[in-house]
Amino acid sequence: MQRRTFWKALAGAPLIFGLPRLAVAAQAGSMKDVEELQKNWKALLADGTKVPAPSETLKLSNDEWKKRLQGLQYEVLREEGTERPGSSPLNNEKRPGVFACAGCDLPLFTSAMKYESGTGWPSFFVAIPGVFGTSTDHKILYPRTEYHCTRCGGHHGHIFDDGPAPTGKRYCNNGIALKFIPKAGKT
Ligand SMILES: [Zn+2]
Repeated sequence: MQRRTFWKALAGAPLIFGLPRLAVAAQAGSMKDVEELQKNWKALLADGTKVPAPSETLKLSNDEWKKRLQGLQYEVLREEGTERPGSSPLNNEKRPGVFACAGCDLPLFTSAMKYESGTGWPSFFVAIPGVFGTSTDHKILYPRTEYHCTRCGGHHGHIFDDGPAPTGKRYCNNGIALKFIPKAGKT
């Protein structure tokens, strides 16, 4: 009973506990809401857009990748490089739509999974199911979880545990490794 009163008081005092955090939480809601976002991700795909499945593996030689991707895009996707923070126009992309792999067009995130992390890289609290593989890298002093596209193997970024509730995850993605498909058609 006492516990109940405490939570009631907490719910009634959003100003004390900080609005920004609540605003982010409201975006995602409960874990069930997050699962719905994952299940219904195609609702944000522009009508008539053909997209590949994660199982349709794309394997190219380094030379072929170099032809397909421009400078930094190649460096990030194929050599695990990192773009400068704040450099991607996708940081400010707020329209409804889908973020696909710039290497192979596989849809990875939707606009409903994106949030403003303040890091200067496009950030997402969850991804479309089954689109990433992960591994641990030791490029900096502590180990980080690197994730890559399951279709083409392209490196996208790192997952951190400081994301918003309810997932608590932050997919810190290089903007240059993504292409945005707006729901409303061409940009
Ligand atoms: Zn890919």
